[in-house]
Amino acid sequence: MPPMEIISDLDKQGFRVDDCHNMINRKTGAPMPLFMVSMIRSDFHKSIFRTVSIINYVKVTVEILRKKYGPPQCFRCQGFFHSSKFCTRTPRCVKCAGNHLAKECEKLLGDKPKCCLCGGEHPANFLGCPKNPKPRLDAEKEKKRQQRAALTNPEPPKVNFWEQRTQSATQRQQPTSTSQPGPSTAPPLNPNLSQVKIPHLISLNN
Ligand SMILES: [Zn+2]
Ligand SMILES: [Zn+2]
Ligand SMILES: [Zn+2]
Repeated sequence: MPPMEIISDLDKQGFRVDDCHNMINRKTGAPMPLFMVSMIRSDFHKSIFRTVSIINYVKVTVEILRKKYGPPQCFRCQGFFHSSKFCTRTPRCVKCAGNHLAKECEKLLGDKPKCCLCGGEHPANFLGCPKNPKPRLDAEKEKKRQQRAALTNPEPPKVNFWEQRTQSATQRQQPTSTSQPGPSTAPPLNPNLSQVKIPHLISLNN
């Protein structure tokens, strides 16, 4: 979907988008089903997380932009929480799990990737990898959040993953009246930026 169509459809729904661009996969250079949308910060614009689920007849999920996807991962050995700059471990290929750097990889484009962390059929930097610490951290945060939420308002029993992410993003956007008496003190990350995701394409990864 061209960014102009997103801008004009959101405009029809009342949202004034300053900028919208298609996000590019850093590795392959291919456009992803993911768009970065910037808008002036306002209460109405914040409602986009709750209210917008369709853009131009396409089902979308709107999420707040997070600084980074997942924990830092070493390009050299695919381990987490350290930089490749200082890594002295044996290199592991992100694509084929071989003992070489990714740039030396001879895997053909059609060959299936192999993850050196879990042995699965995905590149080692795939966020859905069971060995990636991020989803676990997220799940724990989500659990805590739900426990807190359960004290005040019981949640509906079954919510799908994407809806949950949208909801938590929405809640992060709104300072709770109990915890913050004055004007919000901690500025949220990149308040003007939100992401529009097209979940049916993204879910191919799941
Ligand atoms: Zn490393
Ligand atoms: Zn390789
Ligand atoms: Zn894996």
